[in-house]
Amino acid sequence: MEQKAKKGRSIISIIKNLRRFRKPSIRAVVPERLFEKCDGCGELVSKSSVEKRLFTCPECDYHFNISAKARMDMLLDEYTVINRLPRFTNPIDFPGYKVKYRENRKKSGLKEGILGVEGYIEGIRLVAVSLDNSFFMGSMGSYIGEEVARAFEYAGKRDLPILVFSTSGGARMQEGIFSLMQMAKTSIAVDRYGETRNLYISCMTHPTTGGVTASFASLGDVILAEPGALIGFAGARVIKETIKGELPKGFQRAEFLRDRGFLDDIVHREHMRDYIHRLLKLHGYRSCRI
Ligand SMILES: [Zn+2]
Repeated sequence: MEQKAKKGRSIISIIKNLRRFRKPSIRAVVPERLFEKCDGCGELVSKSSVEKRLFTCPECDYHFNISAKARMDMLLDEYTVINRLPRFTNPIDFPGYKVKYRENRKKSGLKEGILGVEGYIEGIRLVAVSLDNSFFMGSMGSYIGEEVARAFEYAGKRDLPILVFSTSGGARMQEGIFSLMQMAKTSIAVDRYGETRNLYISCMTHPTTGGVTASFASLGDVILAEPGALIGFAGARVIKETIKGELPKGFQRAEFLRDRGFLDDIVHREHMRDYIHRLLKLHGYRSCRI
């Protein structure tokens, strides 16, 4: 018995020694943070190559999730923030909302899930808004609805075009009926803005769902999307259970929706700035820089 135990121990120690001298793998030599796994193709891609391509995968063109600030930084020459500071309210006394709100602020480093700015693309002045899904999934509560509506008013008063990037889980359920009312409020703001005869470009990014799809995001004069973006109202599973049938391939993806006339075009993030600039020029907006 004793001999057996000794033998067992020696085998274990031999394996341990072998491990010690094993050639380290590439993943062990290169620090993990230099690479990330692409959610689109599953390949390990270098962060620098992803960053160079404006956070898209060099292998499969998957568009990584980016913050609202990163989006403004890559699109605009310069900008100033036009949002008012958010103040927490719990209009229907939803249990645990305040705690969740604080957690989201801490986790995302944001005050709320929207960034509205006035800035320039190649010298053309415009208002740009982007939702940020790292804060409460970019869901539209009273504050976001108010800020979207204000951005349209702001742009209308100054005769400026407006560009809105959506990414959202829909209305914020913690605010119940108050978040649903934002659908009407933002839709009216878009309609009033339309009376000023200025251009509203909406771009839906992954994912845009629920009350945001069903309100201002679908009301653009030109409606764009990023490749592969999930765009819909209810989730695919809910629809499948309701209709009790199979859904077509590519259902609720940007390409599927473009082919059926829901979107005007799909624009790769690397071409977005040029594309928007061309659209603005086509609609008569000119650079105010000499
Ligand atoms: Zn990929």
